[in-house]
Amino acid sequence: MTTKETLKKYFGYDSFRGGQEELTSSILSGKDVLGIMPTGAGKSICFQLPAIMLEGITLVVSPLISLMQDQVRALIQSGIPAAYINSSLTYRQVEAALYNAKNGKYKLIYVAPERLLTPDFLTFARSVKISMLTVDEAHCISQWGQDFRPSYAEIPEFINQLEERPIVSAFTATATKRVREDILSLLKLQNPTVLVTGFNRENLYFEVQEPSNKMQALFDFLHENRDKSGIVYCFTRKTVEEVCEEINHQGHSALRYHAGLGDRERHQNQEDFLFDKVQIMVATNAFGMGIDKSNVGFVVHYNMPKDIESYYQEAGRAGRDGSEATCLMLYSGKDVVMNKWLIENAKDTLSVDEETATKLKERDYRRLRDMTFYARTTDCLRGYILRYFGESPKPHCGNCSNCGTKFETIDITKESQKILSCIARTGERFGAGVIIDVLKGSQSKRIKELEFDKLSTYNISQEDVHTLHSMIEFLVQQDYLHRDDGQYAILSFSSKSQNVLKGKVSLEMKLPKEVKSKVKENAKTRKSGTAILPPDREELFNSLKILRKQIADVQGVPPFVIFYDKALIEMCVQLPESEKQFLDISGVGDAKLAKYGERFLQIIKEYKKEKSIKTEPIMSKSVGQKSRKDNLKSLILPSEDVLKKIEIVEKPSQITFIAQAINLVMAEHECSTVSPIKISEWLMSQGYLKISEQEGKRTKIPSEKGLRFGISQEKREREKAKYSVNLYPSSMQEFIIEHICDILEFQTREKSKK
Ligand code: ADP
Ligand code: ZN
Repeated sequence: MTTKETLKKYFGYDSFRGGQEELTSSILSGKDVLGIMPTGAGKSICFQLPAIMLEGITLVVSPLISLMQDQVRALIQSGIPAAYINSSLTYRQVEAALYNAKNGKYKLIYVAPERLLTPDFLTFARSVKISMLTVDEAHCISQWGQDFRPSYAEIPEFINQLEERPIVSAFTATATKRVREDILSLLKLQNPTVLVTGFNRENLYFEVQEPSNKMQALFDFLHENRDKSGIVYCFTRKTVEEVCEEINHQGHSALRYHAGLGDRERHQNQEDFLFDKVQIMVATNAFGMGIDKSNVGFVVHYNMPKDIESYYQEAGRAGRDGSEATCLMLYSGKDVVMNKWLIENAKDTLSVDEETATKLKERDYRRLRDMTFYARTTDCLRGYILRYFGESPKPHCGNCSNCGTKFETIDITKESQKILSCIARTGERFGAGVIIDVLKGSQSKRIKELEFDKLSTYNISQEDVHTLHSMIEFLVQQDYLHRDDGQYAILSFSSKSQNVLKGKVSLEMKLPKEVKSKVKENAKTRKSGTAILPPDREELFNSLKILRKQIADVQGVPPFVIFYDKALIEMCVQLPESEKQFLDISGVGDAKLAKYGERFLQIIKEYKKEKSIKTEPIMSKSVGQKSRKDNLKSLILPSEDVLKKIEIVEKPSQITFIAQAINLVMAEHECSTVSPIKISEWLMSQGYLKISEQEGKRTKIPSEKGLRFGISQEKREREKAKYSVNLYPSSMQEFIIEHICDILEFQTREKSKK
């Protein structure tokens, strides 16, 4: 059987996700691997699939009991024999498991790192064929990671003790260079295939709000998302308690989770959430690692976490099944203060020498700053995160609150002068908080004690606090202000500051035109790449859910272990009749077909009969969308599949070539074609190009924004005439292709104007 056939047979998936195929085949060719993939990208398949295909046993070292249980549960459901050995088992149970393992009963055995070097386990391991050792959450081996686990260091010694060195595969979601290097060297990987997959999770929608009343903002959000299951992360136990109580008052069903609760309650609450008995989990960051709940529809951060790594990992728990999900962060300045307090009082710096402690602290402040930038940026949020992880994303994702908000460019020269002069008058000794207090005329005791209320810059700003913060952020990023890396983030002059004060430069900045509830706005207009439940199939969906729940209850597993919501939705859309059609549903493999196929097919059949549906199933994915508006009827827009065929070249290219590549494919699929000039004009309307007049000639050149997104200019000469052309990098080409429908509509509208 090929890897692809095995994937379908056991896991029910038709195709590999990014990175899975490379890693799988690398392992099968006998090589060590290190796979770095974001949460939810599908790491497990990368070792589970080869484990099925290799002879002998695969040992999986895993840091958490819940993680092991989840994976083993899911494997057994898919017809793959697996077991775990950890402290949740009695001595007898461990013995029995080892006995079975020795007799070849399991393909995969999950084990905690502490157990590896125990005599019983070593004896066992030396007596069987271990083809592969997989280190899950491999970052736990690094002191620089977030979850350092000393016993991970024993793994190499364990490998040494084996008769034959197995293939070693390691996986993590942590991408920093330092951690990656640690994994490679500490685990002693031999000539490994290292694969970092893209960190983008397309189905996640990102939004940041800075509400004046967080609780109210949360209520509003939950109200809009009543039918979904989700997690609300809070900074402290106390906040968890408050928020949990309040939202229960509002009629939602929520449970709490934090380190202050007893093991019993924590475990019970977690199970209830996994088993869909409650909808919302309110938790500190103690909740999460190893929560493989597939149908988490939203993750709200009630407070800003300490760094982007934590944020992305926690937010990434949403939408694991690939369905659309929302990641909302409710930001306030207080979150920064709390985080700083935590850095100053961090426990893990107690056990290290002073120099290291200082370094760690600096690192944490830097990370916190990057996190704060995220909360305040006006650029694409997804782009910001991906750049943080070292990728070069497209300028606009179209699926975050900033991409959905209208910004206007305003002149902030005057306001910047006020800010700078206030910094000068207070002696360049304070952070943004104090400066803004002075500018806004704060009555606080501290300001009065410092006698800042007597300064000429006291109470001279009409802007709100949020806008002032954004402006200071902008000045720092543009180097018109210096901010030190210490705890107080003190602002002082840079070499460029005087230019602003003296009026030598004028400054422009993008600010949101109006701050509305973007989550709601966007929920309506968001495009979707995943199957959506048609409204008239809700009844069927509910019947399938009930059946799923019955089966799950009998087996004592969470419903999603039987089928993901996504699979049920696909059933509702495609209405399969035969076993073969049932196998086409994503997530249905041989084992699940055999176990559950008949019962689910029966319900679908009855439903169809009752509604007398004979026609073809509704198509879920976009199939050549025809036209959007009436006046644009003559347009034939391409489907996503057609767009995928357009070639993107690595070399920065001219717009005429890009248009050619597009039109080639468009013509072949009988779609409307686009003129290169209209593409340029559209780019101009989006602010990527601007008009420059030189020697009486008007040409389009990259704007500052265009330059930032990689458009470059090249000087050329032909028959003595000098001219310049704009070149677009591959990321811009992708951006253009993705917006081709907008551009075509733009073209039609422009034409009809004439
Ligand atoms: P990770 O460990 O990287 O966080 P998982 O291995 O738990 O992610 O996979 C995340 C989700 O993606 C799971 O629900 C899994 O079933 C699903 N998945 C993995 N690979 C595929 C695939 N090739 N096609 C469809 N879904 C997949
Ligand atoms: Zn975006």
